[in-house]
Amino acid sequence: MENEMPDEEHEIRNRVKQFVEEELNPISQQVETSGEIPEEIVEKMRVLDKGRLTMGACALGASQKLLDLSIAHVRHMIQSGKSRSDLQAAQFVLADMATEVYAGRQMLYHAARLRDNGKNVTHEASMVKLFCTETAGRIADKAMDIFGDEGYLKESQVEMFLRDVRLYRIFEGTSEIQRMVISRNLLKH
Ligand SMILES: Cc1cc2nc3c(=O)[nH]c(=O)nc-3n(C[C@H](O)[C@H](O)[C@H](O)COP(=O)(O)OP(=O)(O)OC[C@H]3O[C@@H](n4cnc5c(N)ncnc54)[C@H](O)[C@@H]3O)c2cc1C
Repeated sequence: MENEMPDEEHEIRNRVKQFVEEELNPISQQVETSGEIPEEIVEKMRVLDKGRLTMGACALGASQKLLDLSIAHVRHMIQSGKSRSDLQAAQFVLADMATEVYAGRQMLYHAARLRDNGKNVTHEASMVKLFCTETAGRIADKAMDIFGDEGYLKESQVEMFLRDVRLYRIFEGTSEIQRMVISRNLLKH
């Protein structure tokens, strides 16, 4: 099979193999022996802080859009003759969504400001990523409740967001990984 591989793919595979053998394996052995992650690796991993803040920002943007869509939908139902008292549950959902968006925005802006001022924000970036992406999942689910069957249609933006925001909890480190980073930091020393 290997012989059938295009040259370019073969070259990439060899480079990955070389990287694992020459760069990653010695670091793993060092971590296993000393029980500590070398400072140079910790420094390199700080690049993740920016990615996690960016992921938090993407999730926050999706949450805000879902809130805006949900507000417009509830307004439309009121204008179409539904009484406000019939829509009390939907209004409470809007209030919860708005509160979570507000909390996420404050966290994100605060952590971004710290980073702009040169502070190490590994702990904060993980909390922002965890909170904003989990919030986006909850908000997409609540938006689906507000829109009902209409939200489930393929052409609905709610359906699109419900799928898209699930990914935010996976890449740049899953929610479990963020919890590990945060708790490790809480318990160190
Ligand atoms: C659509 C898509 C696009 C992607 N794009 C990119 C990209 O552009 N660049 C990039 O680098 N990566 C990308 N990824 C990969 C993504 O970053 C990884 O999928 C993600 O980090 C999870 O790693 P994994 O798939 O190896 O899962 P695993 O590490 O195998 O984890 C599987 C599950 O186990 C849980 N888990 C793992 N370890 C623990 C633990 N110690 N304690 C508790 N639970 C644990 C995880 O939370 C997860 O739920 C992409 C993934 C997807 C789906």
